[in-house]
Amino acid sequence: MATVTLKDLRKTFGKTQVIHGIDIDIADGEFIVIVGPSGCGKSTLLRMVAGLETVTGGEVTIDGRLVNDVEPMDRDIAMVFQNYALYPHMSVFDNMAYGLKIAKVPKPEIADRVAQAAKLLQLEPYLNRKPRELSGGQRQRVAMGRAIVRKPAVFLFDEPLSNLDAKLRVQMRLEIKALQRELGVTALYVTHDQVEAMTLADRMIVMNAGVADQIGRPLDVYADPQTAFVAGFIGSPP
Ligand code: ADP
Ligand code: MG
Repeated sequence: MATVTLKDLRKTFGKTQVIHGIDIDIADGEFIVIVGPSGCGKSTLLRMVAGLETVTGGEVTIDGRLVNDVEPMDRDIAMVFQNYALYPHMSVFDNMAYGLKIAKVPKPEIADRVAQAAKLLQLEPYLNRKPRELSGGQRQRVAMGRAIVRKPAVFLFDEPLSNLDAKLRVQMRLEIKALQRELGVTALYVTHDQVEAMTLADRMIVMNAGVADQIGRPLDVYADPQTAFVAGFIGSPP
């Protein structure tokens, strides 16, 4: 587990500022959802935590270590994307093992870690299959398996369920939450879906045009929105 601290975090693309000074202290094992409409800066914020985007101003600290200039591989994080392209020619096992092979983890340990993740994700029967022989939900689990085997302290999710149908989305949402609890990791989860945010979050960051309009527990935000934008966004149907 790890704490994550964002201090006056800012991002500018060219002359356009898209993230305006975000501050939050995230506790060990906390599930934080970043929610807001398309284009408000959710992915950019997450990508700065991941190290996939440079920081224009402010600080990203993971477990007390300033990581502004630390490579993604060395940040103790793993990220699950919306477009979780699996390698079509590789088995489920090899898809999950790939990152560990690159990192030169010894073979027996790779086998161990993949087996553990497969058990957790109920993928044990499918380890020899190719991605095309899996359902959408199973493919999503493989994508999560790839992240889990790396044993990160922090999980980053960017709209991981948006390619799934509504029913599966609800099921996978519950699975992600259960998994995060079981692994005891800290999670930052991006979605534009306020219902998803309400169900998953310990606390949510409601973003509006690069500004954190409100940060709080779902029910507190719902009951006591601090801006008209938050009231409209959280109160409206999905
Ligand atoms: P969200 O994930 O909430 O939909 P993004 O973080 O992707 O929003 O984008 C926030 C804003 O930053 C948008 O206006 C987008 O066009 C802009 N943006 C994102 N990435 C880049 C980039 N690499 N270069 C220029 N502008 C970008
Ligand atoms: Mg996005």
